[in-house]
Formats: sequence, C-alpha cells, structure tokens
Amino acid sequence: MSPVSVPPPQCLKKRMVVPHRYMFGPGPSNVPRRILEAGAKPVIGHMHPEIFEIMSDIKSGIQYLFQTQNRTTFAVSGTGHTAMECAIFNTVESGETVLVAVNGIWGERAADVGERVGAKVKTIVAPPGGYLTNAEIEKALSEHRPVLFFLAHGESSTGVLHPLDGIGDLCHKYNCLFLVDSVASIGGTPLCMDQQGLELIMSSIKSKRSLPMIVYAGIDILYTGSQKVLNAPPGTAPISFSERACQKVFSRTTKPVSFFLDLSWLSNYWGCDDKPARIYHHTAPVTALYSLRESLAVLADEGLEKSWDRHQKVAEYFHAGLESLGLKLFVKEKHARLPTVTTIVAPHGYDWKEITAYIMKTHSLEISGGLGPSVGLVLRVGLMGCNSSRVNVDMVLAALKDALKHCHRSK
Ligand code: PMP
Repeated sequence: MSPVSVPPPQCLKKRMVVPHRYMFGPGPSNVPRRILEAGAKPVIGHMHPEIFEIMSDIKSGIQYLFQTQNRTTFAVSGTGHTAMECAIFNTVESGETVLVAVNGIWGERAADVGERVGAKVKTIVAPPGGYLTNAEIEKALSEHRPVLFFLAHGESSTGVLHPLDGIGDLCHKYNCLFLVDSVASIGGTPLCMDQQGLELIMSSIKSKRSLPMIVYAGIDILYTGSQKVLNAPPGTAPISFSERACQKVFSRTTKPVSFFLDLSWLSNYWGCDDKPARIYHHTAPVTALYSLRESLAVLADEGLEKSWDRHQKVAEYFHAGLESLGLKLFVKEKHARLPTVTTIVAPHGYDWKEITAYIMKTHSLEISGGLGPSVGLVLRVGLMGCNSSRVNVDMVLAALKDALKHCHRSK
C-alpha cells in the first residue's frame, strides 16, 4: 500500500494564471520589467561573496533613500510589519514605556506590537484625517517619559503626511528614541533621517536647485517596505538604526523576544558590525534582494529630488482632477496630504465597495476603500514610484467618472 494517501492536487496541474492589473491602490505598486528581470536571475548562496556585495550595494542605496550615514542600515527579510517588529522588539524591553501616535491604523498596529513585548503602551490619538501638534506630543512625552515614540510619517489609511519638523528634537530632549514608519512616504516626499542627510540636502540648496520643503527629522529608527515607491515586489523592508538607538539595543539586559529579528545577529549578517566574519543567521531571500537592489538603482538613476518633485506635482494634478469631478479630498489641509496615497471622501449615496469592484472589473484597475479607522469613509488611490504619472492620473479619473455614472446611487 502506498504511504501517500493525499493525491497530487488537480489544481496544480493547471497553469498558473496571473492577470495584468493597474496597481493603483495603497500598495503593492506595479513592478517595472527592469526590476522583475533582476529578480529572475539565478539563485546563489546567501553566504557567497557576490551576495555580500549586493547586500553592500543595498545598504548604500538605503542610506541614500533615507539620507543617513547610519552604518546599521540594512533590509529585513519580510514586509513592513516585520520591520516595525524589528524596531520595537529590539529597542524596547518588557516593562518599559512606549508612546504611540495614533492617527490611523499604523499607530494602532505599533501599539499592539508594543503590548506584545510587555511594554506599557501609551497613546495619543488624532482623529482620522488629522495629525498631532508638537505641543500635544511634548505634553505626552513629558507626562509618560517613554523610551520610544512611534509615528507614521505617511498614514496610508487616512492619507495624512504627518509633519515631522521638531519632533526628533523633542524626543531627544526627553531622552526618548524616535521611531518613524515611512512605508508609504519615503522616496515620494522629502525626508532626511539625520543630520548628515540634512547636510547633503543643504549642499544641493546651495547649488540653487529648487526643492520641495525639506524635512530634517532627527529620526533614530526609520523603516519602509519594498512594494510602494520603490516598485519592488513585497518581501523586503529597509531599516536603519542611529548610534543612539544601537546603544539602547546593545545595552539591553534581556534578549529581544525574536531570534529572527535580533539586531545583533542581523547587523552581523549584513556586515554592519566590527566582527571579522559574518555568521549564518537565516537564508536571505536572495532573489528578493536582487529586486530590491535594482529598485534602489532605479531611484538613484532618477535622483531623490526629482522623485519627490514628480510625486508632488502628479498628486496636485490628481487632486485638482478629483475636485473637478465633484469629489472631495479627505485631508483638508493641503500641506498634510500624502503625495503617494490620496484619500477621497467616499462619494455620498454610493456603496464604496461597488465602486472599487466596478473599477476592478471594468478597468482592471485596483483602488481601495478605507482601512481601520477610515473604513467606509474613504476611497484610497496610490500612485507610487513608476505609477506616479499624469497618464495614470487620467486613467484613474476616467475610471472614477465611469464608476460614478454606472454604479447604483441612492436618492
Ligand atoms: N506602514 C504603512 C504606512 C503601510 O502603508 C503599510 C502597508 N500598507 C505597512 C506599514 C505594513 O506593511 P506590509 O503590508 O508590507 O507589512
């Protein structure tokens, strides 16, 4: 009798079918051929010298993307959530206090992750579509004296670009690390992680190139994902730790709860420490690293300033087009609108689910509804990286116009 009682599944005998879609939701974005082809190169070993060279290129690319000189800069094997956990698991010990700014789902998630490591989690909440003032943040910092403050720079659930000016300095005044989620913002809007990054930008100002508003952030831990502005497939997540953050992590009295995300192992595997040899930690997803490297090369080819500028101009063109269709933007203050992910007030009298389904069926185009606190309130459109263009804006506007004409509208 055969020991195999579960037969080979019939479904696997059919060829896999993957449709072409316009990925204009809040992520993932479309992946250009150049990046897809990089990911199709042959697998080599995760400890081969050639992969170490690719990893070193990725580190330089992330330092450019984040505008930082931090040596503890690398990519986590996993998605944006993995990077969020890597940041919190390493910097926080059980019983310590963490302060979280909640103005959408990402603050809620960070608070949840903090609770899982046994931290005392305090929150400051802004209504969906709004953000916190520096005075509110300072009040909470002085009251709770946290070791870490979390903020989402681009709140993709509400479409808010949170102002960052001065928050890093406030955190340092209260001896607290500043952790920023830039999954939905970095590359599409100005952000300099640290002072060195600022200096680089100042030199381009001196050369009189015009730039959007510069943000020097004084951030201690910054992370993002590969699948948004970078246009790589999901599965790798750039992250960087300042010297202050590393000092806190490496003077812990307890081990981080995750072996997989332990910074001392990861920084050795990525060649960020002073140890002479790299030690096997996990089998890195080598083909995902090829794609990530290529996506950073694409960004370096265009240049950060051009990318920031393009996203801003395309977003303004999009926002004007939405208003001319009679639609309303969910974020009232122009300067707080994310140029990457736009939130539109869910059109009155319509079922938002019917609109997104209609656009998917008729135009093979993904836009999405709200998430977390914005469910039912908004439609979300993401135009990130190569997707941020006037041609794509026109396509989305035509699809929305068509949906408003054909979807059911209550009287
Ligand atoms: N933070 C923000 C701002 C995001 O937009 C997302 C993804 N939508 C995440 C974190 C989580 O990333 P992932 O889905 O890659 O885990």
